[in-house]
Amino acid sequence: MSRRMSKEYGRNSLAARPALSLVQPLSQEQPLPASRKRALKILFAVAEAYPLVKTGGLGDVAAALPAALMRAGMDVRVMLPAYPHVLNMLKEVRPGPDLGVVLGGHSARLLESVMPDTGVKLLLVDCPALYARGGNIYQNFTGEDWPDNHLRFGLLARAAAMIAVAGQMSGWRPDVLHANDWHTGLAPYYMRAWGGGIPKSVFTIHNMVYQGLFEGDVLADLAIPGDVPPPGIEFWGRASFLKAGLVYADRVTTVSPTYAREVRAPAFGEGLDGVVRARRDMVAGIVNGIDETVWNPATDPAIAARYDAGHLAAKAANKAALKELGLAVSPERPVLGIVSRLVRQKGIDLVLDALPAILKEGAQLIVLGSGESALEDRLRAAAAMHPGDVAAVIGYDEKLAHRVIAGADMILMPSRFEPCGLTQLYGQRYGSLPIAHRVGGLADTVHDLEDGFAFTALSAPEIAKAIRRAVARYRNPPAWRALQTAAMAKHTGWDACAALYLDLYEDLTGTDDRHGTDSGAVT
Ligand code: ADP
Repeated sequence: MSRRMSKEYGRNSLAARPALSLVQPLSQEQPLPASRKRALKILFAVAEAYPLVKTGGLGDVAAALPAALMRAGMDVRVMLPAYPHVLNMLKEVRPGPDLGVVLGGHSARLLESVMPDTGVKLLLVDCPALYARGGNIYQNFTGEDWPDNHLRFGLLARAAAMIAVAGQMSGWRPDVLHANDWHTGLAPYYMRAWGGGIPKSVFTIHNMVYQGLFEGDVLADLAIPGDVPPPGIEFWGRASFLKAGLVYADRVTTVSPTYAREVRAPAFGEGLDGVVRARRDMVAGIVNGIDETVWNPATDPAIAARYDAGHLAAKAANKAALKELGLAVSPERPVLGIVSRLVRQKGIDLVLDALPAILKEGAQLIVLGSGESALEDRLRAAAAMHPGDVAAVIGYDEKLAHRVIAGADMILMPSRFEPCGLTQLYGQRYGSLPIAHRVGGLADTVHDLEDGFAFTALSAPEIAKAIRRAVARYRNPPAWRALQTAAMAKHTGWDACAALYLDLYEDLTGTDDRHGTDSGAVT
């Protein structure tokens, strides 16, 4: 159920954390653009945020969207669990309000700091009994979900709702609580349970597959009354945190318009398509942006040679640098890159099935990823069988991700479903053209022969066919460069996407007087 992460986080005990110290006065205030009515206060509750803690796209979004909202003049705070390794990464942390007993007999207090790169204000929910442990943030060392994940994330959600509704932080109460994925899905439920309808809640689904499903006997732990989950939380007899967010939030968003449409149908709705259909008018799709500072080939400190669309020749040095990973690179042979969680969603099994055809085209393959052990094993075996032509790096490595995306000629994304996908956008920005299945956010962001290659039917032969088309284009250097230049010229930064979220927040908060408090259907 959880997002996996191969990196081992949180080995440090709380005792190893630096002493709490006062942060400098925060200089978050930005001028409010004329188009905006007022500086809304937004609490962004989430389980991970780059660069402090990241397992996938959720962490990227939680870093970049709040920063863009801040740039737009909003007063944003990101709320994260106080994982010990996060505390160790922060320069200055100061104590915030004590929340008392939050859930399941667990007390928590808030710690305040700022995000290292952007200065966005941070609220950390400190509850060592739940967050100070080894393994990763969702799973133990052997890859099993922590058995008390319902409490770990229920407590995060409830702490967010407490700040929003009960005004636990003197002098600051959000206008909007923006919850993300199942980890914070209960926040809108608690807000409803406490009544009032203000502040408003927004719930963003970054991936419908991860639902936060728990047996009904966790209800007492979660302070949810009754012996069976209420209808807004119940999912085939169990409690679903994702459903709670979907049902109780004032508005729901997903991370691309196509995915927002797809999840209304059984094929993509993961059993919740009926709930999505019931809330159809309240579910919007807003495509993710990318952090154009972190992902910029002209300034990227992680890559071998920096370049831009006007100096594409320097990109070759990044391809040559892939030799360090065992690829026998040459200008004649295009390198396909994959940087991904290794899960069924991403279609890596189909790439492996298509491997003989890929190699026959003269292409080479490099994969950086971690996840399901069967896929990891197959990738290792493929690399061993085709030394020089296939390289597999099993693990999670942020810097190497930049080097693979800069060094590859093409980024392969044959996802079975893809809520948004970020790697194809990184590929475009780096002139490493995506070859993507036309599904979800990939359909919204990869346009065939305009900024990449898109294919419709998903199978190993269809992947091979799409690669064949891309390789043919690669062998025509002027046409290839034209496509690279077009892809690199795309503006996919966060400011435009953040403006859409702001419209949504303004719409929600601006309707208080006119429509009262009930803006969502509770089932
Ligand atoms: P998802 O959220 O489903 O994992 P996205 O494409 O939206 O997929 O985002 C994936 C993010 O995680 C990207 O920033 C990608 O570079 C990063 N990533 C995935 N796997 C790895 C890995 N093994 N090492 C480094 N970064 C990775």
